[in-house]
Amino acid sequence: MNIYKGTGAAKGQALANVIVLREDNYEITKIQISEQAVKKEEEKLKTARASYCRELEDIYDMTVQSLGEESAQIFSAYKEIAMDDVFFAQVLKRREQEQCNVEYALQEEKKSVLKMMESIDDAYIRERAADIENVCKEIIKGILGMQTSDTGLKEQKDDFIVVAGDLSPEDTIRLDKKYLKGFVTEKGGKTSHTVILAKTLGIPAVIGVPGICDKAAGMERIYINGETGEVAGDPDEALITQYQKAKEASESQKRELEKLAQKEAITIDGYKIKICVNTGDQESLNSLDAKICDGIGLFRTEFLYMNHKGYPTEEEQFAVYQTAVQKMEGKEVVIRTLDIGGDKQLDYMELPKEANPFLGYRAIRICLDRKEMFITQLKAILRASAYGSVAIMFPMIVNLEELREAKELVKEAMRRLDSLKENYDKEIKIGVMIETPSAVLLSDKLAREADFFSIGTNDLIQYTTATDRMNEKVQYLYDSCNVSVLRAVRLVAQNAHKEGIEVSICGEAASDEMLIPLWAAMKINKLSMAQAQTMKIKYIITRLSVKEQEALCGQVLEADTMEEVKKYLHSICP
Ligand code: PEP
Ligand code: MG
Repeated sequence: MNIYKGTGAAKGQALANVIVLREDNYEITKIQISEQAVKKEEEKLKTARASYCRELEDIYDMTVQSLGEESAQIFSAYKEIAMDDVFFAQVLKRREQEQCNVEYALQEEKKSVLKMMESIDDAYIRERAADIENVCKEIIKGILGMQTSDTGLKEQKDDFIVVAGDLSPEDTIRLDKKYLKGFVTEKGGKTSHTVILAKTLGIPAVIGVPGICDKAAGMERIYINGETGEVAGDPDEALITQYQKAKEASESQKRELEKLAQKEAITIDGYKIKICVNTGDQESLNSLDAKICDGIGLFRTEFLYMNHKGYPTEEEQFAVYQTAVQKMEGKEVVIRTLDIGGDKQLDYMELPKEANPFLGYRAIRICLDRKEMFITQLKAILRASAYGSVAIMFPMIVNLEELREAKELVKEAMRRLDSLKENYDKEIKIGVMIETPSAVLLSDKLAREADFFSIGTNDLIQYTTATDRMNEKVQYLYDSCNVSVLRAVRLVAQNAHKEGIEVSICGEAASDEMLIPLWAAMKINKLSMAQAQTMKIKYIITRLSVKEQEALCGQVLEADTMEEVKKYLHSICP
């Protein structure tokens, strides 16, 4: 048994089979092939194509079941390319002419096709080029005997833990969630989308384990502890027994907490905090349960755009928002407008490559620039408001000008709906996400022009402490217990209350057990989190007294160091 140490990012323990998803690192060199070996080369290509096609069929079926036909279409498009005999005949012709290895011929043929396509200025052609690139890459990996990136994403028969360098949101979409028991990554931050998905599914995640992909390749089973960050390859009997005991204890605690599922979160001295859920990805949309929450506090709409090959239409968006609104049975649904850019990239949007994407063309900046795309989304959200209680929320606002311009575009969307005689809530609430130091410092002014605030601590920590939320090297600085972050939250809450508007927290810090007394003392009105976290947080709130926490809040915000903050908070967490 070998033990490795990373950072615990989503709580819980798991023990299961290992699936390693490797990044696609390979180098292809030209090798001269003798006459005798020609057949073998051709055979390698044939086998790799056939096995990739079979794999795509499985993934297609699995995706239809979990995400629907539309999301699965990408895999049938890939299969069409993999089955294109004309293209692969060209590959074999090139191999013959150059008497070289087949993977080299495939790579070169792909390059020449892509070059030709590049010269055509058409979005559809560019999309096809990206598909060809992907298919050729997978087939080359097959020829080289490497695992394809889709391996392990097919339907599984046993519990498994994914070990990866890092996972993109697209990778996580393709995972078979039924048997997925946890994540271990070499890279990534505590608020990466892998970690957010882990919390949604209620499974553990450990991040920042250097070299774990290589180490895990030789393991059969792996144990992970999402609290301590401990990872063990092929655990010994003692660890297995310890794990089983912990599992039983956590299951019994879960049964206890379930009793609170439908209760409200009210402190001992009568202060109610709304407990809402974060959603937007398919898993959490499927499991939404209006009975156990006070509504949706953050609907991340970018997943809708990620599951698509091009911009989702107004109708497609409306259908998804409407379903969520109806599922909430009149409880409020806060829909955040598109927050793409930063770590969330989309090929078809053709976002520029930037040196500092988190400081660049992102979120509301894109929406205010691509106005028609934005108005399409706003119309879809407004139409959904005719079916329940909906609010609109803008991400990454840094000044009043942006808020005013975005509100103008809401009015424009309303005018267009009026001319079509469409129904919508004319008094719809419009809120601002507080995610940047500038929004914090302008929160007095923003509070006069917004209907509510929602503090996005994931980004607020990153921008306040100048710490990339995805960079594992600087995760020690990325901490919600940084006094500057806590002071920022308090200032925003005070300014919101002065103007009589609601303030909520929807970043991961909303469900950080240790911080709940502090949020209660700051009179945060709403906490929004993964549905799986809600019961635990209700449990904590029902054991708190706001009055008792107020003095502590003052002490914590005067602390010198993060360690001191944590010491105070540990001493009072109920
Ligand atoms: C946040 O920044 O806290 C937030 C909720 O937004 P996201 O994690 O989607 O950037
Ligand atoms: Mg954010």
